[in-house]
Amino acid sequence: MSLTTEIAVVGAGAAGLMAALEARQAGARVTVVDENQSPGGQLFKQLHKFFGSKAHRAGVRGFRIGEELLAESTGAGVDVLLNAVCWGLFAPALADGAGEGKNLALRRGAKSELLHFEKLILATGAQENALTFPGWTLPGVMGAGAAQTLMNIHRVVPGKRVLMVGAGNVGLIVSYQLLQAGAEVVAVIEGLPRIGGYGVHASKIRRAGVPILTRHTVLRA
Ligand SMILES: Cc1cc2nc3c(=O)[nH]c(=O)nc-3n(C[C@H](O)[C@H](O)[C@H](O)COP(=O)(O)OP(=O)(O)OC[C@H]3O[C@@H](n4cnc5c(N)ncnc54)[C@H](O)[C@@H]3O)c2cc1C
Repeated sequence: MSLTTEIAVVGAGAAGLMAALEARQAGARVTVVDENQSPGGQLFKQLHKFFGSKAHRAGVRGFRIGEELLAESTGAGVDVLLNAVCWGLFAPALADGAGEGKNLALRRGAKSELLHFEKLILATGAQENALTFPGWTLPGVMGAGAAQTLMNIHRVVPGKRVLMVGAGNVGLIVSYQLLQAGAEVVAVIEGLPRIGGYGVHASKIRRAGVPILTRHTVLRA
């Protein structure tokens, strides 16, 4: 089976949905594909109220922003295909030869499909910047994003006693979420001489009795 669109967007996170909305409002036919069953990308594991500016929806919880973006996009006429893994990009001659544009190869459940498009936007997300040290690959050592996925998507507490490395907003917010999930956060450590995240997030952690140690780093696990 093949589908046709003018602009294909891979990734239904904040970037993909905003790009799709802009393109649709400019008059293009747009199809967004995402491998997950819910749209929103990272937003769906973010239970906290967003920081940043009002123009970027500060004060709204991340998963709500995802819902808002989806409603705005589909309301404007963007097609969103979920459970659709994009695994290849082919010129017509290499695929089934149909359609004028290029083709994205999609796997949707057990089915394989082609999406013919004219322009492509890749909004497949960013990756965490992992810190490497002796023992960083041991079980139980993970990035804050992985801990958030376990807690907020799969409802699994990633550990009983946790040391958080990094006192930026992500480290502080995920520490608070770990406390809410029932883990003990023994400390947040930070290599810089000051806390990088907002005071409001640091205060919540401290009020819960978690020390934030600046000028400290991890040597081994
Ligand atoms: C703990 C934490 C807290 C944060 N807090 C804030 C905050 O308060 N304020 C703020 O502004 N930002 C915050 N951020 C950052 C913000 O969440 C991200 O910058 C944003 O969600 C990234 O959006 P994105 O669309 O670029 O990528 P993503 O949300 O990662 O979306 C990419 C999507 O593409 C899909 N995809 C990738 N490859 C394929 C493929 N081959 N086929 C189909 N689909 C594919 C992925 O599954 C995903 O759904 C936080 C991040 C973290 C980790």
